[in-house]
Amino acid sequence: MFPGPLGASLSGDALARGVWSLETKNIRDHGHGKHRAVDDTPAGGGPGMVLRCDVLAAALDASVASDDARPRLLMSPRGKPLTQARARELAAGPGAIIVCGRFEGVDERVIEARALEEISIGDYVLSGGEIAAMVLLDSCVRLLTGVMGKDESGAEESFEGGLLEYPHYTRPREWEGRQIPDALLSGDHARIARWRREEAQKLTRARRPDLLPKT
Ligand code: SAH
Repeated sequence: MFPGPLGASLSGDALARGVWSLETKNIRDHGHGKHRAVDDTPAGGGPGMVLRCDVLAAALDASVASDDARPRLLMSPRGKPLTQARARELAAGPGAIIVCGRFEGVDERVIEARALEEISIGDYVLSGGEIAAMVLLDSCVRLLTGVMGKDESGAEESFEGGLLEYPHYTRPREWEGRQIPDALLSGDHARIARWRREEAQKLTRARRPDLLPKT
């Protein structure tokens, strides 16, 4: 599955230039028996299968040294929600070990024993952690120096100032009877900045009041 979509466009170019790198490991290489089984039925019964703790631990121990300083993350809907702030923190750090779950989930004991930190990309359930890991990686990679066209294009985005981003416009000046707002055509930088700040606040109040500071 990897690098998948991360091999294209901005992240793909950066990958090819060595701005970031990716090493993938297949948990199945540490599976048991002829079929390289990595899962088993859940203790206590119920649907689905569970990723075995011994198999995942063997896969981790074979590729991650015990003194490896990189955070060990497990993609999981039960995890702490991924935020722009966390993406910034991870992008500034030494990298990450990312475990992608499958099946019903992962045996709790390996999460504890290998101190895996659960991270969620949102309140919905995917069938595997790979796409979630790609989302996490993409959010970090685009923040690395030299990945985005203009370095400043990261600073004004949604969530960066605690607000959603203001609306964008480009040519033509009039389209289907709709005009570009006057403020943006005024050439008055202070007025433009004020308009954008107000629009960002309006949008955030309407769509994501939870992002606004509690008063
Ligand atoms: N039974 C689990 C869901 C398992 S989904 C539960 O109810 O919590 C299978 C795998 O997909 C998970 O192990 C995880 O790695 C990944 N996954 C699913 N949804 C995710 C999400 N919102 N964020 C991050 N990873 C997710």
